[in-house]
Amino acid sequence: MKDFRYQISPLPYDYSALEPIISKEILELHHDKHHQAYVDGANKALELLEKSREGLEINYKAVMRDLSFNLNGHLLHELYWQNMQPKQESNKPSEKVIKILNDNFGSYEAFKKEFTEAGKSVEGAGWVALMKDTSGKLIITQIQNHNLLGINGFIPILVNDVWEHSYYLDYKNDRATYLTNWWDIVNWNDIEKRI
Ligand code: MN
Repeated sequence: MKDFRYQISPLPYDYSALEPIISKEILELHHDKHHQAYVDGANKALELLEKSREGLEINYKAVMRDLSFNLNGHLLHELYWQNMQPKQESNKPSEKVIKILNDNFGSYEAFKKEFTEAGKSVEGAGWVALMKDTSGKLIITQIQNHNLLGINGFIPILVNDVWEHSYYLDYKNDRATYLTNWWDIVNWNDIEKRI
């Protein structure tokens, strides 16, 4: 059988590259510890399923739950790292992306406001995501934890992690400031490739 185990990608920049918006300390912990734990959790669930096919008794409900939580966690973090870049002065999307955002949200400012407000109001741990369906329609959604409130058929284009581990060391409980500052490090070239 082919080995389909998941692996974490290295960050596409240095650990200190997103300062002062996100500190080196947060990136080291977030990528090397938190993200790695989701990769390990997903692989562990897959391993248990493999063993169950050879006779091991497992708790399917718990394993399926772990697989969903950890694998979605891995995939969201892989995208999150790509969605960011070192801080840019007056960071903005290209005209092409702005036109797409205008078509879907009325204006770039309206899109930014909706995304920021959706992020601020995620209950507990989760994500805010710009998603696209096959028709090209864009929507902004919240994701609780890594895997709840998802909408089938929509794929994430731009995501921001609003778990406390992504901002607490720098911003304490001030998620709103993290969300506002974060626009300075959004990698619009990366978004444009997938939007
Ligand atoms: Mn995270």
